[in-house]
This record gives sequence, structure tokens and C-alpha cells, in this order.
Amino acid sequence: MSLVLPGKVFFVGAGPGDPGLLAVKAAKILQAADVVIADRLVGMDIIAEYVNAQTLVIPVGKQGGSSASKPQEEINAIIVKMAKRHAKVVRLKGGDITIFSNILDELEALVSANIPYELVPGITAVSGAAAYAGIPLTARNHSTGVRILTYYQTAAISNEAWQELARFVDTLVFYMSGNALPNIVSKLLQAGAEPTMPFAVVEQATTPHQHVHMFTLEEFILRQRDAEFTSPSLVIMGRVAGLYPQFAWLPNSADRSAYFTPLQGQGQFLAAK
Ligand code: SAH
Repeated sequence: MSLVLPGKVFFVGAGPGDPGLLAVKAAKILQAADVVIADRLVGMDIIAEYVNAQTLVIPVGKQGGSSASKPQEEINAIIVKMAKRHAKVVRLKGGDITIFSNILDELEALVSANIPYELVPGITAVSGAAAYAGIPLTARNHSTGVRILTYYQTAAISNEAWQELARFVDTLVFYMSGNALPNIVSKLLQAGAEPTMPFAVVEQATTPHQHVHMFTLEEFILRQRDAEFTSPSLVIMGRVAGLYPQFAWLPNSADRSAYFTPLQGQGQFLAAK
């Protein structure tokens, strides 16, 4: 191997869970990697299937509010340090690399350290969830578009924006919002949303533990507001969600335990193969 340092960093999207959803290009890059710096929402199956035994795997799992999270600066520093020591560094992120992924911070760190990089997209959670639940996101006569949102903090959506969202004819998708659902649904209803509007909560989409829960706004707030969802889950809201019963093709898993477990070991480990 000719070692031209600094190495290159490949931002690679791992897809939502099913290892078969990894892009062919991503798989080739992973197989050739010297180091893989992996997010929490990357399944062990992907590491086991595509990463060589001699590759260094560094889990840098981030989970909302968890004390196990590595601060972003520390992650940036690890990426830069690894690129100075190794030729091919993969920054492996769950789903796609550019959606709710903190990639901006990492790109800035690389640009200021003069380290070259490449971006390889992945299948984002909502694409995986929609396909594996049989929900056509922009079905003709049901929706004219999709809005990808998050609501993990109150400030993320202004009051005016709620008014606008409540009148939606589009499909609304919420990432990182499982715990905030009672809040989201109340806000939408207060802002005048249609009480019979359906929505799906897709838990652990595309993994063997996938489970889809269907509600209407009104039903949820009256009877289900205490429902708990296994992380990761996302919400697909709007008339297209009503197509789920008709086109679902995967039965719900009875196993609602967490599919994404912390990647083995603390700190660095050699991938088991
Ligand atoms: N970059 C990722 C998103 C990271 S934010 C992507 O493009 O998919 C993390 C959020 O993504 C989770 O809180 C959840 O809302 C969603 N998510 C990721 N994987 C998921 C999965 N397998 N099933 C359901 N939601 C998922």
C-alpha cells in the first residue's frame, strides 16, 4: 500500500439498518478502509459483513442526552488524527450522511486541517421506512411533497411554522422525535390540523425488529399519548400514511428490543469477522 499522508476521509452512509441497503460503492470503500469511525446507528451486521478483521473500528456513538455521547469536538479531533496516520479513513454514519448528521462540523474540521474527503450517500431512514412499510411518500392525489423535520427541542419549530404545518397537504416526516410525539400532535391539533389525519411511527425500520404503529392525531392524543417507542423511530404523517394497511408487505416484528446495540467494546477494537 502506498501511503500518501494525510489520508483521505470518506463520509459513508450506512443506510437505515438492513446491511443489504448499503450502496455498492460504500461497501467497496468499507472493505478497503484502514479505520472506520462509526456512529451509534450503525448495526453490527454491517461491520461484520463489510469491514475487514484488521481494520480499526472506533465507535463514537451519539445518543440524545446520553452521557455516553462523545462531544462533537472530540469526534472531529479523532477524524483529523486518524487521517494524519492512515490512508483510508471512513466516517460511517447511519442512514444518509447529510441528513441530521452533524457533517458540517466534521467537514469544517477537515477543510481547516487541509485533509481531502469524499462524500458517499446512504439511504436515509425515511426512504428505508417508507419502502419497508409500503408507504409511497408522495403518492399521486395524496401528497405533493415531503418535508423532513425534527422536533427534539421546542425551539426547533416556531409558532408561525406550526400554523403552516397544521395546514399541510404534504407528507411530514419527523426524525429524532419519538419522545416528543405528544407535544407534536398537541401543537398540530391546536394549530388546526385535521383530527383524523393518519400517521405512522416506524420503529427500527428495515431491521429484523421493524414495527409500524398507526394512529390518527385525535386517537393518539386521546388514547395513546403514553405510548412508548423503541429507538430509533420516525414519524410519517399525512394522507399517505393511510395507505399503510393496504400496501404493507412486512409483518410487524414481535421483538421490540433494541436492534442497535453499542458497537462492541469501549474505544478502539478490531472488527470481529
Ligand atoms: N443520518 C440519519 C439520521 C440521523 S438522526 C439518516 O439519514 O437516516 C437519527 C434519527 O434518524 C433517529 O432518531 C430516527 O428518527 C431516525 N432513524 C435512523 N435510523 C432509523 C431506523 N432504522 N428506523 C427508524 N428511524 C431511524
